[in-house]
Amino acid sequence: MKNLFSTQFNISHIEPATHIYGPGRRFAVWLQGCSLACKGCWNEQMWSFKANKLLARKTLLAQILAEEDIEGVTILGGEPLDQAENTVWLIQEIKRQTSLTVMLYTGYTKLELEQQQLWTILEANVDLLVTGRYQEQYRNTKNQWYGSENQELIYPEKSRIEQRSKRLNEVEIIIEETGEVRVLGYPT
Ligand code: SF4
Repeated sequence: MKNLFSTQFNISHIEPATHIYGPGRRFAVWLQGCSLACKGCWNEQMWSFKANKLLARKTLLAQILAEEDIEGVTILGGEPLDQAENTVWLIQEIKRQTSLTVMLYTGYTKLELEQQQLWTILEANVDLLVTGRYQEQYRNTKNQWYGSENQELIYPEKSRIEQRSKRLNEVEIIIEETGEVRVLGYPT
């Protein structure tokens, strides 16, 4: 699917430093909009393609580059590849300009990504892909980084991520200086 807002991302949420979406401390960005409508999805508020928070892709890249002490970037949603042009641009720029690792969540399977002619470019630029729909009947909250057993964790040949998913349910509680509290992950 082409980007609806030209070279702007439609963003749901950003966490500039989180520890539960991939290895190490990571910049995580949830993109707004998903066409896949998995039954039981926990992020239904991210399905709508209406403009939520629009951000020029260069601005998002600058925010990532300005973040200190991160090991990588994780892109999730929503469905990042329903904004494929911008997502691919971002992934390539991160790879070109930094040594940060990239992790990408997508509800599409490897076969679908091949059919969409996205696989080759993703394989060359992403260090870890979590692929496939969320399937409620295969839900398992005890796996680090993914939520249903049918999903596949793919480490492409040139991946710089060595860490493998563990049997672990991680939850992160962030307390801002303002007193705002956010809970990330899915506590059982
Ligand atoms: S792909 Fe992800 S965001 Fe989209 S419906 Fe499935 S679980 Fe929800």
